[in-house]
Amino acid sequence: MLVVMRHGAPDESVRRVLDVIQEMGYDARPIPGKNRTAVGLIGNDGRVDSGRLEALPDVLQVIHVTQPYKQVSREWRQEQTIIELPNGTRIGGAGVVLMAGPCAVESEAQILAVAHRLRAAGATVLRGGAFKPRTSPYAFQGLGVQGLELLARAREETGMAVVTEVLEPERVDIVAEYADILQIGARNMQNYPLLRRAGRTGKPILVKRGLAATIKELLLSAEYILAEGNDQVILCERGVRGFDDQTRNIFDLTAIPVVQALSHLPIIADPSHGTGVRSKVIPMARAAVAAGADGVLIEVHPEPDRALSDGAQSLWPDQFDELARQVGIIAQAIGRSLVPRLDGAD
Ligand code: PEP
Ligand code: MN
Repeated sequence: MLVVMRHGAPDESVRRVLDVIQEMGYDARPIPGKNRTAVGLIGNDGRVDSGRLEALPDVLQVIHVTQPYKQVSREWRQEQTIIELPNGTRIGGAGVVLMAGPCAVESEAQILAVAHRLRAAGATVLRGGAFKPRTSPYAFQGLGVQGLELLARAREETGMAVVTEVLEPERVDIVAEYADILQIGARNMQNYPLLRRAGRTGKPILVKRGLAATIKELLLSAEYILAEGNDQVILCERGVRGFDDQTRNIFDLTAIPVVQALSHLPIIADPSHGTGVRSKVIPMARAAVAAGADGVLIEVHPEPDRALSDGAQSLWPDQFDELARQVGIIAQAIGRSLVPRLDGAD
């Protein structure tokens, strides 16, 4: 439930609303906004009797949030959430963000070489798994903490922000020490203890859509993080399991405008996992930006043929240059642009 205050309501009226919500046994969250000040009531599992709140001074309106995901919804917050990373990259604003890197960090030479290439192409966020969720227990599982150290080294050299996956609640603290964004992978989208634990770090969290998750389930997973008091959440469409083996997944581009209508959180798109096929990544990256994605997450490897994971969908660095160029043109066609480059070039 949302208690909307009259424009210019004095602090004491807002405080009174907070006190009454707490007396009623719920949690209260002040939500300052450009156009309205509101107080959110959370912790209820059903409709709350709003009579007592409606009668308080300077209360304009009480809105019952109809969606099961409360703080994630546009009913709760109308203005778009913008997440600013330590390197100045803003996600969710007018700028479209290029996030790219290998599926997994494999060696110092690999991650540094690709990071420099990506930065020169305009990417501002470096991806790379140190802890990898692999279908087979015998496949390469990632370099672990050594991989995190290599990502930090690449950040030092390039200024790129780092996004990397965390697989287990017990590893959240160590991954958060190195990452600028914690990635919750598709397989873990409904790992609720992991979502809560990651949420408590206060760091930006990238939540990837589960292999068979509905949009509502994706938004409810994000709600777990907001319920921990962390609204720095980026959603990611990465395709859902389909019946056709021409592509690895069905890349659900419709999810982008659907999520944007339902939620104030930024949403990016991952056409690498969405298609699983290198030659399909550039066209679908163009399509995702045309559909309104706030950024793209792309797998790029200096030598995709030798990649230890996801080589078939990884672009060559030259292909990423082309992707960045094309996506920049699409962004401009819809009144956006790419986020400012780290090297200051045009
Ligand atoms: C990845 O980003 O490499 C990854 C494992 O992605 P997903 O969780 O979407 O499969
Ligand atoms: Mn991958």
